[in-house]
Amino acid sequence: MSARILDGRQMARQIVDEIRITVECLVSRGHSPPVVAVVRVGEDPASVRYASQIERLVASAGMGFRPAVLPASADDDLLGQTLGGLSSDRAITGILLQFPLPAHLSREKAVAAIAPGKDIDGVTPLNAGHFFTGRGRYFVPATPLGGLELLQRSAIPIDGRHAVIVGRSEIVGRPMALLLLRENATVTICHSRTPDLARYTRQADILAVAVGHPGLITGEMVAPGAVVLDFGVNVVNGKVVGDVDFASAVDVAGAITPVPGGTGPMTNAMLLSNILRAARWLGSHKQAEGRAD
Ligand code: NDP
Repeated sequence: MSARILDGRQMARQIVDEIRITVECLVSRGHSPPVVAVVRVGEDPASVRYASQIERLVASAGMGFRPAVLPASADDDLLGQTLGGLSSDRAITGILLQFPLPAHLSREKAVAAIAPGKDIDGVTPLNAGHFFTGRGRYFVPATPLGGLELLQRSAIPIDGRHAVIVGRSEIVGRPMALLLLRENATVTICHSRTPDLARYTRQADILAVAVGHPGLITGEMVAPGAVVLDFGVNVVNGKVVGDVDFASAVDVAGAITPVPGGTGPMTNAMLLSNILRAARWLGSHKQAEGRAD
């Protein structure tokens, strides 16, 4: 039997529409639309493409876009000043720093210069800490947030299920595990040092894979009826494929995300959702200061 396809593209379109309507309401009440600053160092082609994609995405939601492009030779001080300037700029709602940074730059120093209230990608230690404890206001990285949203909007039960996460990166695997734990799943995290990966993946009711190895998970590693979230984005012979061998897994799983068109578009939608969240926080600060905008 063929699995239900979890169409992230269609779901993301619906979320973007919802966000656009919210932005229109904000504007009609006299507020400025949220503005996101996308900061890049150098001209890495994938980062340039991603920035254009974000520009189109935020425009589609009625938001503003401010690019900040530094030369590849920029040092930690210049990057820190740029991020610090955007952090204190009242016209900027959210900041997205593009990775990877050139090797001579310190990720730690750069991230420290981003105001936590504008950290829409959830990369600052303060956000990560609040997320870990579940206390205070914080941003969750957009990719795992998109994975959770996709499960919830697809009415897939999480409470009491066994979720197996393959990959433990700070940006996808680990936060995905934490989100599912919050939803009362029993969570197992696998990584490159896990022996006999299939032994774990076959026990999953929900299998989330974020590794970066095309076709790592085959159908025989999936339990019949399991829900499979494939975060992998790999280019093989000019085609984008996931970490799950879709052709074999689709016959075993109960539901599965395609690549492309699954978790990727949901990441974009959640980035917009985080920008809106930042706008609301900024709005509550301004209200406290007695400013309309
Ligand atoms: P990282 O390289 O940061 O992490 C990969 C993880 O996979 C590590 O935890 C690593 O383990 C683990 N791993 C590596 N090999 C194996 C193996 N053979 N068996 C089990 N685990 C293994 O990658 P990211 O998390 O940043 O990205 C993962 C994938 O998700 C990539 O394809 C990336 O392009 C994609 N991605 C997709 C996004 C989306 O919007 N859908 C957004 C961000 C990323 P260890 O920790 O032991 O090294």
